[in-house]
Amino acid sequence: MFIADAGHRLYLWDICYKNTFDTLTAFRCIIEDMEKERLINPAASGGDDRVDQALRPKRLSEVTGQDQVRENLAILLSAAQKRGEPLDHVLFYGPPGLGKTTLAHVMANEMGVSIKITAGPAIEKAGDLAAILSNLHEGDILFIDEIHRLGRAIEEILYPAMEDCVLDIMVGKGPTARSIRLKLPRFTVIGATTRLSLLSAPLRARFGAVYRLNYYDLPAMEQIIARASQKINTPYDDEGIREVAIRSRGTPRIGLRLLRRVRDYALVRGDGTIDKETAVQALNLLDIDALGLDEVDRKVLDTIIDKYNGGPVGLNTIAASISEESDTIMDVVEPYLLQLGLIDRTPQGRTATRKAYEHLGKVYPDKKTDPQLF
Ligand code: ADP
Repeated sequence: MFIADAGHRLYLWDICYKNTFDTLTAFRCIIEDMEKERLINPAASGGDDRVDQALRPKRLSEVTGQDQVRENLAILLSAAQKRGEPLDHVLFYGPPGLGKTTLAHVMANEMGVSIKITAGPAIEKAGDLAAILSNLHEGDILFIDEIHRLGRAIEEILYPAMEDCVLDIMVGKGPTARSIRLKLPRFTVIGATTRLSLLSAPLRARFGAVYRLNYYDLPAMEQIIARASQKINTPYDDEGIREVAIRSRGTPRIGLRLLRRVRDYALVRGDGTIDKETAVQALNLLDIDALGLDEVDRKVLDTIIDKYNGGPVGLNTIAASISEESDTIMDVVEPYLLQLGLIDRTPQGRTATRKAYEHLGKVYPDKKTDPQLF
């Protein structure tokens, strides 16, 4: 059974039960998202998933970058193995495409257990969650992507399941309604979210370990992209790989996607090797600039600078001005622009920095000499 989330990812559920989702809505969601696909959108697409599965690290030793998280996970895993118990519940948060799902799979492989995958928006009714939980086996991992999108009623069922391994279900309606308690095997929830702040405090408190995934630094991105080129049998030189890595926004999913486009370009316009010249030409043709910004990022900066005199302006206003979803602006565009120091976050809204003006070739207004602007 397949379920699609807003990122038009397909989730495979290995359980079957009735009335759980609306296939038409799911497919409409996929098609809408495909239409607005961005090359640097770190959300997965169907095509990416196919190739990425093969490139995904399987063991912790194969995972590149995220050193602190990796070290903490290594301790968590070996402690659980030594105690002979299932893993504690783990929450990963951070922008999309940084490896939350990958790490959940790695943890299942390291523990030698099965992993069931679902997502917050896919669990609509209490029965959906009950069906998933009652199909788990001892030690299994339940990966819930976009866990911040779970409904409150569903969360209420998850709490006793996570804490005491019990499932409380209401049977019947009105005065004859009664609660039945089912014992569940000990299992582990691995939650993933791009918005920790939207997670309710009681749900967050149920996780024994909470890890933030950060953007990857350049050496880590180079390593990930070089390894992927080897796996897809594409010759490269170090400078070519560096160029792809620089424009990948510190995000493996974007890096792998750019690599595939550059590989195509090298094959058609060059001799198949990814060198610096080929990479620069291919990435310029894709309209991804030297900082890894694409058209939407530049539109956001242009809007702040030209329409709102450099800000401050709220994210929702920016999203409406450029007809983009505010989720995309909040999850994808803003964190990267903040990281690069192109925008500042103030209580009144976002402002463009001098670096943003310079990057776009605009004159930075001097407040002292040009008071009319402010
Ligand atoms: P998220 O769940 O955070 O959106 P994923 O786990 O789906 O991100 O990762 C996206 C892709 O990036 C994966 O398919 C994997 O191939 C690659 N990837 C992520 N993290 C790493 C890593 N640390 N090393 C190598 N490849 C990675």
